[in-house]
Amino acid sequence: MTDWTAVAGQLAEEFAPRAAEIDREGRFPTENVERMKEVGYLSSVVPVELGGGGADLATFAACQKVIAGACASTALATNMHLFGIGAAAEGWYGGDRSGEPIFAMVADGTVVGGSLTDAATGLNVRTSSTPARPVEGGYVITGRKSFCSLAPVLDFFWGTAADTETGRLLLFGLPRATPGLSFVDTWDTMAMRGTGSWDVVFEDVFVPTAAVQRGTDPAGPPVWDAAQERTFAWFAVSVASVYLGIARAAARFAYDRVTSRTVTGASLPMARQPAQVASAAEIELALRPAEAMVADVLTRRAAGELLQPADIQALKHVSVSAAAAAVDRCVRMVGGHGIFRSLPMERYYRDVRAGQFHPPSADVAVETIGKAALGTDPAAQPRWPAD
Ligand SMILES: Cc1cc2nc3c(=O)[nH]c(=O)nc-3n(C[C@H](O)[C@H](O)[C@H](O)COP(=O)(O)OP(=O)(O)OC[C@H]3O[C@@H](n4cnc5c(N)ncnc54)[C@H](O)[C@@H]3O)c2cc1C
Repeated sequence: MTDWTAVAGQLAEEFAPRAAEIDREGRFPTENVERMKEVGYLSSVVPVELGGGGADLATFAACQKVIAGACASTALATNMHLFGIGAAAEGWYGGDRSGEPIFAMVADGTVVGGSLTDAATGLNVRTSSTPARPVEGGYVITGRKSFCSLAPVLDFFWGTAADTETGRLLLFGLPRATPGLSFVDTWDTMAMRGTGSWDVVFEDVFVPTAAVQRGTDPAGPPVWDAAQERTFAWFAVSVASVYLGIARAAARFAYDRVTSRTVTGASLPMARQPAQVASAAEIELALRPAEAMVADVLTRRAAGELLQPADIQALKHVSVSAAAAAVDRCVRMVGGHGIFRSLPMERYYRDVRAGQFHPPSADVAVETIGKAALGTDPAAQPRWPAD
């Protein structure tokens, strides 16, 4: 079996030297994605029995952490392809065969991306403001979605829209060449500039019934089953690992900087200054609990536990917040040179800020975690008291 952590280490070494230029230009790292395809990384999570690499969630998360430390945009963009495939693969090992068609495509080199985010209204995982009008044999969709990472290179698109008659959330998959479907470069951002998270435009796109999975009724009670848990756990653990990977890279840079720098007039390196020692401690005190939480979630899942939404959301929230706090402290350790574009610190500082926006956002996580702790049914009405 392939040692995927070693492969990720090799890819990280190759990607690190061009990360600054990709960020500066805000260009999509096509060559990195091609290289990942070449070494089988983009099918690493597909079951071995179906032509993939058989990487489990722990392996995948460890790999993403390493790659994110080299080029965060490459890691985050490809995360959007890998996490869903990995979750489906875990389901396959548990007897759910529904992912087999997509595994065959991915093992054959297909890159999968998607958008669950409506351009006009943001993200609501229970419904969509993109209308899908029922017609003979399927639906017709007109609208615009946003934040579709991998848009420059994806071959197969996943998206959501709402059935205009029933209001149900539909999840559908389409080949890139589908008539009326186009990808528009709107991605000029402060952070994660190389993820190619473009808008997706639908102009009377016909989606055949066979390409549609009917999701839940937005008016019904929230559903939490093994399939949901898998998808959200693979997403949260891998996203947490990407942002912790950025923070670990920033910490390595800051530690190396202060240990190797002795300012004029000082007898010992900067690392011996009390403030630097305290900063290093603060960084470790932020990152280690988050890393321990990732490990705990992996151990509990490996033992067969079905995690609850609050467990998963707490992991994501704690990890991305810890990563951002740690990088802030790394910048302080490095000092004024930390804001120079010639050093990677300012890129880490910008990239790590994007973690808060992935679902669940901090606001949503706080509601879920708080209500779970207080034993409040998440579907209880009214959602908030009026008095
Ligand atoms: C680098 C990057 C790459 C991404 N790639 C993808 C991708 O490939 N595919 C994809 O589908 N998405 C992707 N996303 C999008 C992401 O998943 C979010 O959908 C997107 O950031 C929109 O979030 P928003 O904060 O604008 O949401 P909005 O829904 O507009 O929310 C705005 C604010 O309101 C708050 N809010 C919204 N709803 C609630 C609520 N119910 N309760 C409390 N507070 C609420 C939010 O916390 C947020 O602070 C990506 C995001 C980033 C940053």
